[in-house]
Amino acid sequence: MEDLIDLKEIAVSMVNKTYELSNGVEVNIAEDYGYTFAFGGYKRALGKCDMYQKKITISKPWAVNNLQEEHILIDTVLHEIAHAIAYEMYGDGGHGKAWKMVCRLIGYTGERTFKQDRDSTVTPPKGKYQYACPSCERIHQFYRKPKRAHSCGMCSPTFKPSLVLKLVE
Ligand SMILES: [Zn+2]
Ligand SMILES: [Zn+2]
Repeated sequence: MEDLIDLKEIAVSMVNKTYELSNGVEVNIAEDYGYTFAFGGYKRALGKCDMYQKKITISKPWAVNNLQEEHILIDTVLHEIAHAIAYEMYGDGGHGKAWKMVCRLIGYTGERTFKQDRDSTVTPPKGKYQYACPSCERIHQFYRKPKRAHSCGMCSPTFKPSLVLKLVE
């Protein structure tokens, strides 16, 4: 992907697409429910689905940092579209049964939530605070001052005191 305009074009066409669910049921969140696509200015999430404003958004700071990792951005759009369909058709606003079913039907195979510290292929936007892992030395970005100690998710999926991140001065 070259730039944000390309990403926007892809995302808009995905939002405007008709998805086939089971038993021949079809849904088009743009036509049926008025959803649109936009970029968001937030940094703490890759994407969001606003069911009240009928908006699928992708974080612009994340997008500009990860244009080379096209599949992650496209996956994020699909993740959010699944939220819109699950909410509008089945009243499920979270990552529950309906959302999982919709994901399967529209071809989303990613995670419930994205873990920045467990995926080394993405580049998070620069945070207000940077913390380093004492073992792998990876820098973790924080957008708010962490209230508790975090240990490195790249080195261990569970909390380890020996892997507690240290503020980079
Ligand atoms: Zn989600
Ligand atoms: Zn580490």
